[in-house]
Amino acid sequence: MNILVIDDSALIRAILTRTLSPIGAVHAPGDLQGARDLLGFRSGACDMDVVLLDLEMPELDGLSFLRDLRAQPHLADLSVIMVTSTQETERLDDAFAAGANDYVTKPAHDNVLRARTLNAARLTRALRAAKDRERDLAAANAQLAHLSLTDALTGLANRRAFDTQYEQALALAQRSARPTTLIMADIDHFKRYNDALGHPAGDECLRRVADVLRASCQRRTDLASRYGGEEFALLLLDTDPRGAHEVAGRIHAALEAAAIPHPDHPLGRVTLSLGLASTAAPDLKDAADEALYRAKARGRNRTEEW
Ligand code: GH3
Ligand code: MG
Ligand code: MG
Ligand code: MG
Repeated sequence: MNILVIDDSALIRAILTRTLSPIGAVHAPGDLQGARDLLGFRSGACDMDVVLLDLEMPELDGLSFLRDLRAQPHLADLSVIMVTSTQETERLDDAFAAGANDYVTKPAHDNVLRARTLNAARLTRALRAAKDRERDLAAANAQLAHLSLTDALTGLANRRAFDTQYEQALALAQRSARPTTLIMADIDHFKRYNDALGHPAGDECLRRVADVLRASCQRRTDLASRYGGEEFALLLLDTDPRGAHEVAGRIHAALEAAAIPHPDHPLGRVTLSLGLASTAAPDLKDAADEALYRAKARGRNRTEEW
């Protein structure tokens, strides 16, 4: 336990240090700058557990110092005990209003001083622990939220994430009168791929195709998602079909460059069929599906627009 004693009198510092040494490491700097350094006024880091602060000091009175201390966000939970002489008790109201936790009057009984110091330090630690737990919990929640929207195999957005953003995209397109384009993508002859190379290889192939799709959606408003199985959906906000054809072209080119071997495909490599539709269609998803179906029927490895 770290105890910080702030007092202008060297004698009082010595007495408090001797009294409190049995319960912790006592730090009693000779000037206020030393105290500020131990409190991390500049660094923002402080491992003190409790402060005993003299109310009456010539350079800067304890009340002003307390206000400076409480203005530091990282010291919000640090317990402060005011040390006063009896005639100063009326100023305690101000001290409590400024964030003091307790006070002792000089001269204090050793055992009273130790007990109150220990209690104050425990309060600091309990508050800090609660904040740590809160932070851990918030991080865990954020992680869970992320996981619930992510496809575990490919790391792309999952169907749930897509469904949510799809509804939002439709609403936005309607309100802004700007087109959103949807590209549905389906791996060609993927059943044969699995049959030839096995399911684990199929999973690895899905990851590599996902990487291509991720890299091809460059805008922050583009969403690449795994729609299900070996189907992917790309939602391109504020993008007309012409722009979407550019993205589709990039995807075919990147897949050709990746040249993922497919032993039972006429081209010998993995390809995608893409169906493209914009919000001009009565039903975006149906339209993209229809276009995808046409891409399959017309020989695969191509893009068709609704
Ligand atoms: P097409 O060119 O007409 O799309 O033919 P296809 O074989 O790709 O289409 P089909 O829908 O008949 O088969 C899809 C196959 O995708 C079925 C299954 O073997 C495979 N598949 C779906 N999800 C997964 C998955 O998560 N992992 C693996 N390894 N394979 C999957
Ligand atoms: Mg003093
Ligand atoms: Mg399919
Ligand atoms: Mg397929």
